[in-house]
Amino acid sequence: MQRRVAILGSTGSIGKQALEVISMHSQSFIAEVLTAQSNAETLINQALTFNPNVVVIGDANKYETVKQALAHTDVKVYAGADAIAQVVTMDTIDIVLTALVGYAGLLPTIAAIKAGKPIALANKETLVVAGEIITQLAAQHKVVLLPVDSEHSAIFQCLQGEWDNAIEKIYLTASGGPFRGKDLKYLVSVTKAQALKHPNWSMGAKITIDSASMMNKGLEMIEAKWLFNLSETQIDVVVHPQSIIHSMVQFEDGSIKAQMGLPDMRLPIQYALTYPLRPQAAYPRFDFKLYPTLTFENVDKTVFKNLQLAIDAMAMGGIMPCALNAANEIAVQAFLNDEIGFVQMSEVIAACLDATTNETQPALETLMHTDAQTRIKASKICKSLGH
Ligand code: NDP
Ligand code: MG
Repeated sequence: MQRRVAILGSTGSIGKQALEVISMHSQSFIAEVLTAQSNAETLINQALTFNPNVVVIGDANKYETVKQALAHTDVKVYAGADAIAQVVTMDTIDIVLTALVGYAGLLPTIAAIKAGKPIALANKETLVVAGEIITQLAAQHKVVLLPVDSEHSAIFQCLQGEWDNAIEKIYLTASGGPFRGKDLKYLVSVTKAQALKHPNWSMGAKITIDSASMMNKGLEMIEAKWLFNLSETQIDVVVHPQSIIHSMVQFEDGSIKAQMGLPDMRLPIQYALTYPLRPQAAYPRFDFKLYPTLTFENVDKTVFKNLQLAIDAMAMGGIMPCALNAANEIAVQAFLNDEIGFVQMSEVIAACLDATTNETQPALETLMHTDAQTRIKASKICKSLGH
């Protein structure tokens, strides 16, 4: 039986690698739905190669282009954000991979969970914004959330066979990004090109900037809190520049399990799609002799302020992680547009958190309101900081 996969964000870094995984295991998987935001050309090419049942282009202005290019095929074409949230409920979908970036993942993920679809979750922002709602909904609809993020996949893999054995703590590993070991003075003048140059991973622009600022690790702490039902004090971060150990779990007897391998996102993507099986795959193997030393360091949160801001938002809970995420999305975009400097991203986020009055156990509507309001606030601050 082939499993029919919906890939939300198929034109992105994770989406493309997921299609590689599907090609490699074409006896096991079919690409049933593919979606993109505005990259019509790549979406069209993917549709011609994988012949999905449906494609959705988020940007409605690109609808005609996609429709015409696929007119001679059976592929159904839809457009708009609502269509992305609707197609995930299709009867013919067996699993939904959320590989779109940012807050845009929230509503489609909720729709997919309500439709009872297993979720291969790459879109960490969804859990940052609405972790409580998402995990409760998943439990209610008996839906599994299969982590794709490499650290969370590592922890998930370490937990296999542990039944009810309690977690004492987890260690999320971080490469440290391109600015590992640098001080604040250095960070003030770093350029977009430097920030986009990740030492170990090739990823979309937003997560690459988040990795450079260490916000990615902060978002991942919040993601881990919800995925594994942990308290803040059970989640630690350790810098491991080689990116070979993808994360670790420490159990109550003191034993630590680590999951290792070369940095290659196809592995966690495949594991989420094939769980609990491990079908043969020819990805490059790790060779211990090529890595005689694996090293570990602390991260300086007074330099990488975004990580501290995320930890603070996680501790406050309620709507604060949602505000953190919205402010960060605006700040990252402003940095990518050369509107603000690298360390100013932290100023924007801190100011937005300061200006937010927390509300605990927020409803979805409250989170949507918080997201919209924080974006307005953050954009204003970016303009005032603009150079
Ligand atoms: P990319 O930027 O490479 O791809 C994002 C995808 O989402 C594209 O298909 C894009 O379409 C689509 N998209 C963008 N904005 C919207 C929107 N508003 N509505 C609908 N679709 C949209 O991102 P990545 O693949 O790097 O990351 C995807 C997610 O996975 C993120 O949440 C990231 O944090 C997470 N992740 C990524 C990892 C990686 O290695 N890349 C590792 C771990 C987690 P278009 O191409 O048309 O713009
Ligand atoms: Mg990660």
